[in-house]
Amino acid sequence: MSDEPTVPVVCPTCDTETTVPLAEVEDAVESHNDRLHDGEAVAEVDPALAEQLADVIAEDMGLLDEE
Ligand SMILES: [Zn+2]
Repeated sequence: MSDEPTVPVVCPTCDTETTVPLAEVEDAVESHNDRLHDGEAVAEVDPALAEQLADVIAEDMGLLDEE
């Protein structure tokens, strides 16, 4: 069994929610936006969860740039 943490990535434009491993979330968001939204930052980590994770990963991964 794996305890690898996962995080939900939501895209309001596509109306999708995808769960990806924490280690891959930055790439997943970036490639989604790159492929589907011309590089615009449309998809993002679920804001509610991003808030919870902020203390842990925000500084490392820069996921909360828009705050
Ligand atoms: Zn999208």
